[in-house]
Amino acid sequence: MTLSLAATHAKGKFATDKIFGASAAANKDAAQYGKDKVVNATIGAILDDKETLVCLPTVEKVYRNLPINEVINYAPIAGLPEFLEVATALAFGDNRPEAYTSAVATSGGSGVIHHTIANYTEIGDTLLTSDWYWGPYKVLCQDALRKLDTYTLFDEKQNFNSKSFESKVNELLTKQDSLVTIINTPAHNPTGYSLSDSDWDNVLEVLKTAAKDQSKRVILLVDIAYIDYAGEKNACRTFMKKFGNLPDNLLIIMGFSMSKGYTMYGQRTGAMISISKNKDVVQEFADINQFTSRATWSNINRGCMRLLATIYNDKAILAQVEKERNEYYNMIRDRSDIFVREAKAANLQMLPYIAGFFLTVPAKNPDAVCDKLHEEHIFAVPLAKGIRIAVCAVPSFKITGMAAKMAQAMAVV
Ligand code: PLP
Repeated sequence: MTLSLAATHAKGKFATDKIFGASAAANKDAAQYGKDKVVNATIGAILDDKETLVCLPTVEKVYRNLPINEVINYAPIAGLPEFLEVATALAFGDNRPEAYTSAVATSGGSGVIHHTIANYTEIGDTLLTSDWYWGPYKVLCQDALRKLDTYTLFDEKQNFNSKSFESKVNELLTKQDSLVTIINTPAHNPTGYSLSDSDWDNVLEVLKTAAKDQSKRVILLVDIAYIDYAGEKNACRTFMKKFGNLPDNLLIIMGFSMSKGYTMYGQRTGAMISISKNKDVVQEFADINQFTSRATWSNINRGCMRLLATIYNDKAILAQVEKERNEYYNMIRDRSDIFVREAKAANLQMLPYIAGFFLTVPAKNPDAVCDKLHEEHIFAVPLAKGIRIAVCAVPSFKITGMAAKMAQAMAVV
């Protein structure tokens, strides 16, 4: 036995990250056969058609022009007040609900999830998300000594499975008094699905019904990490209006992140936004999450918070950022259009893709299919029940032909 000095609850922690594993295999292949030959569909960031990491040009310009003291100095633990205001305004667009809100700066969208777990579930509780989900949700739950359960995202017609959602919510609430559900929409990772307004009506109906039991605390974390690549700004935010006038014991938290929308992935800047019709609930939210920030990372990146405030407060700069981002949205759209069209032609089943960085092909043996694809120099991420393709990172000319090769690989493994 190997020597272990870790505390009991920490023993055996080991993150096997399939995404980084697949990415390393792609890089190795590129070093051996040349980058041109290799399709690396593992990366969760926008690469342009030359496969260079994209920084939105105006974001870069504003960032480089920040006074150095705005970059290096500490920030208030809760976040710069201007940032919190601007992040809230940008998160809602024209769809601010009739409700009180409050916000706390976080280390990206990951920080939102971390604090939500810490402050809205009991140790040992189970959180809920869909069966297709971003792997770190589980790591975050486990590290906090919580569990994660799933409902089935799609029914047999590939529509949002509100029945499965309802039965899991009810099942978990018979066992515990608080329930945090995480829904990643629009432009869900890994499928690219976005809940429709009627899906949203169903979700909120289920949660409102659950909240009729006053002894329960019902929390919905809406992870909007990819919202800026989900379609027209206000059209993809209409669901937010529905967050007004909900029961006092039903809290909505939105996870705002600058990672994708402002191409600031490594700068670790985001905000958690609470929405409630009860003033005490949003005040408590600000207090307890600020406290957890102090205990977790202290303050976050001041320069990046200042960057967002600077962009928002100059309408011409904001318009320019949105224009540049829209060009990349269209680039991703072109890539996904090719894949979807070719998948249809090759009879390759896909999960419903609406928008976003990723699309998913369901598979019985994802690891074997991915290994087989390596022979074609195609690298994708094997998930539990499918294969994730990062259309954000693969130029159109490399997407062409990919669906047919996947169909062939699926036929032989
Ligand atoms: N949520 C989802 C579904 C994601 O895919 C990501 C990043 O990949 C995040 C949240 C959080 O990203 P960050 O912590 O960089 O904001």
